[in-house]
Amino acid sequence: MRWLRTLILSGLLALSIGFGSPIGLPLAAAQKADQTVYIVQPGDTLASIALRYGLATVDLAKANGLINPNLVYVGQPIVIPAATPPATATPSTPRAKLASIANRLHIVQADETLFGIALKYGTTIQSFIDANQLSNAGFIVAGQPLIIPITARSNEAGTAQPRTPLPAPFTGLDIGQLPLQQGSLMEITIHASQPVSLTGQFGNWSIPFIQDGDRYIGLVGVGAHPVTGVTPGLHSVIITATQDNALPTVISSNVQINPGHYNSEYIRLSADRQELLDPQNVNSELAKLNAAWTVFNPIHYWTGLFRVPVDKFIKISSPFGTRRSYDGGPFVSYHEGTDFAVPAGTPVHAPADGVVVVAEPLSVRGNAVVIDHGWGVFTGLYHLSEIKVTPGQTVKQGDLVGLSGNTGLSTGAHLHWDIRIRGLNVDAMQLTRQVFP
Ligand SMILES: [Zn+2]
Repeated sequence: MRWLRTLILSGLLALSIGFGSPIGLPLAAAQKADQTVYIVQPGDTLASIALRYGLATVDLAKANGLINPNLVYVGQPIVIPAATPPATATPSTPRAKLASIANRLHIVQADETLFGIALKYGTTIQSFIDANQLSNAGFIVAGQPLIIPITARSNEAGTAQPRTPLPAPFTGLDIGQLPLQQGSLMEITIHASQPVSLTGQFGNWSIPFIQDGDRYIGLVGVGAHPVTGVTPGLHSVIITATQDNALPTVISSNVQINPGHYNSEYIRLSADRQELLDPQNVNSELAKLNAAWTVFNPIHYWTGLFRVPVDKFIKISSPFGTRRSYDGGPFVSYHEGTDFAVPAGTPVHAPADGVVVVAEPLSVRGNAVVIDHGWGVFTGLYHLSEIKVTPGQTVKQGDLVGLSGNTGLSTGAHLHWDIRIRGLNVDAMQLTRQVFP
């Protein structure tokens, strides 16, 4: 697990009354607007830090006046240059240009496959999928930048909890799991020196925190579509701690959101299903489901990885995030889940433990089962031919919840699985690859 521990000095300085210069850095450096400082953690290299912020290692070394970029130390503040504009004087030769980016990104060429790229870098397809959170390895496109996975890196070192120079009562702030992209699930872990009341904000989204032993955890979805979600780039996470009779303490952290690189697809609907697209139809169903999705259940039901809800499938017929046009209309919506091509009647299993909150026929989603996994995480399983559970029923991972089908707004037998975090869709497949707390 790799964590980003970072703090924006401007955020700290806004509340500096009472704790002076707690981080021991020259204030002059701290007062520069929009400057992010990253504190080097165990296991970090300058290259890995550059990767997190989408920068070239040489640029980061230059910005920090580092003569030997191989020598960074734990606790060292590294200034992250603000939005790096494209170099005006581009290197004159292609070779020079390549050298400046070769240690972080690979730009997919027209004739390349992921297998070929993995082979080129002497690593596996899976490590590329993990590093880039690719929901479907088959969907790489020419011109797409791929993060080259960092190998030979100790996971043990990355999870050590060092003393961090945060204002009291904060003693640690971790943001994972990196790299983050549109459609990701973001996990925020706070350590505090004493019990506190925490609130968080990411864009328009508030972040509820749950105490788990000596840490507080918040889960927040990163929107997949620029219309309703976030645009790629740097975004702030703001955390406020409140204690009895004390002024609130606020820290903030910049996180890099990478583009989702989603494809587009055109969908044609047969005449008898057209009426399902009627906004009134769509919205009344959504309102009903929102009432279920937005209930925050503090019980944490699941453990470990989620599983794909079918034992086997022919293919992923439509991955998460694909921009959709219905019958030639504009691409204003996106695919909110992952579609598995399976014959009708295929057993559908609970992806993780939870409680069934919806089990009924809906007009757009067809026969639907929604499972509350706790902490604001919900599974939706749609277009079923049969429902095998009832609302209020507790399910364990792998339990039969229904049979796949072709009901509702569907153009053939398949299973649609989606994950929502307090109503916001994220890529469900991420939870089958990465363990969230
Ligand atoms: Zn679907």
